[in-house]
Amino acid sequence: MAEVQGDVAGSLCAWQESDLRDVPARRAHKNWAVCANLRNMHIRRKRDLKRALEEQEKAAAQSALLLDQEQLNGLLEYLEERLSEDECDASLRFTREWAAANAIDADALAASVEYFTAICDCEVLANVEPETIF
Ligand SMILES: [Zn+2]
Repeated sequence: MAEVQGDVAGSLCAWQESDLRDVPARRAHKNWAVCANLRNMHIRRKRDLKRALEEQEKAAAQSALLLDQEQLNGLLEYLEERLSEDECDASLRFTREWAAANAIDADALAASVEYFTAICDCEVLANVEPETIF
């Protein structure tokens, strides 16, 4: 169990990262709320976990998406253009059009965008966001 030191608010105490797993020691650490050392460790851990989660989500999204970044940008540009002329008819007609014009399997692309809960053209435009995938 770690020695509990540092009773000045915001000062560094003797705690180490490994002590965080020692629950009784944590409970006994009276300066929990004011210990800058612990607070920083927590912030770091939370940040690292968040980053790891984001990386995982990106990796999953990338493997779910049939397209690379350039292709996706091309599709989204095309949809933006087509949907400004014609309303979405609750199908993937423009997405399929683009696929056919770009030698991409339209059925495979339709299945792929479903991962992003996009089952029509306007949902592809809204839900398949390059910045959360690449
Ligand atoms: Zn739609």
